[in-house]
Amino acid sequence: MSEGPQVRLITERLQRKLQRKLLSRCVTTRANLERFAAAIAGSSFERIFCKGKHIFFALDSEQFLHNQLLMRGRWRMTRDRFMLLPYEIWLAFETGDWTVYNQKGQVLRILNAEQTQKQLDSLGADVMCDKCKEQDIVEALSGQQEPAGELLLDQSVLSGIGNVAKSEALFLAGIHPETEIIELTERELSKLAGSIRSVMWDSYKSGGRWTRRVYRRSGERCLKCGTRIIMIRQGKQNRSTYFCPKCQQRA
Ligand SMILES: [Zn+2]
Repeated sequence: MSEGPQVRLITERLQRKLQRKLLSRCVTTRANLERFAAAIAGSSFERIFCKGKHIFFALDSEQFLHNQLLMRGRWRMTRDRFMLLPYEIWLAFETGDWTVYNQKGQVLRILNAEQTQKQLDSLGADVMCDKCKEQDIVEALSGQQEPAGELLLDQSVLSGIGNVAKSEALFLAGIHPETEIIELTERELSKLAGSIRSVMWDSYKSGGRWTRRVYRRSGERCLKCGTRIIMIRQGKQNRSTYFCPKCQQRA
């Protein structure tokens, strides 16, 4: 599952393999990308960057390829060439040495500069951006009336946090997922901001692996107190949140 840390790692790999590299061939199985794929051969991406869980490939200042991996999308690299593109591969770029390809999208579309800016503006501060410090996270969350477990997934407030980081950060901070952010003391809010950063940067430094203390551990014992971890569903999208009912009590 790709959240902020995995997306940043993938973007860095894509930069190394594709940025300002001559693209000798580009093939696609998607109708919406056919014109783009035909036009890109012989040119290169000026810049590849990410914000939150979104990846952008700038062909020039006017054309951008926008990608969101969501649950199923993947980027892969191989030394092989594709004669015929398997259907689950949406798009493949060939450079001199490598074929870089996207498997199963999950969002892959062409945007102009204005649409790209609109997409970037719709996203809150990127937790995985070098400039994003604890205080920026505190400011983004401060005063919000929604339950913590729902608000942390709202990409317009903070971008990059997904379901794993959400459960793990709330556990580290000792906050019940149904607590509204506005109910938190200043100290609790700083602790939450610090926990978000530490969960996400730890994953980044571990090559995208998560340390799972509560996530998908329902029924198992809490590593701190031995109580059984439980799972609840939150928000309109009914997303799962895992927590320890003893370490994370409602105030
Ligand atoms: Zn516990």
